[in-house]
Amino acid sequence: MKRSLLDILCCPVCKGDLALGVIKEDEAGIIEGTLTCARCSVAYPISDGIPDLLPRTDPHPASNQ
Ligand SMILES: [Zn+2]
Repeated sequence: MKRSLLDILCCPVCKGDLALGVIKEDEAGIIEGTLTCARCSVAYPISDGIPDLLPRTDPHPASNQ
């Protein structure tokens, strides 16, 4: 993902700002890294250049049996 994308991304849970942590980057942008929400303290991974912003909070844990 491009660094400029950070300006339009926000936390899917609280809509807060995300802090970028870069693990691997090339001229096209960030390849591996993390996006961390300062408010929720949830870290979303970036892998293969794709930010994975699926909410990590699960109100219904899969243990209904
Ligand atoms: Zn958040």
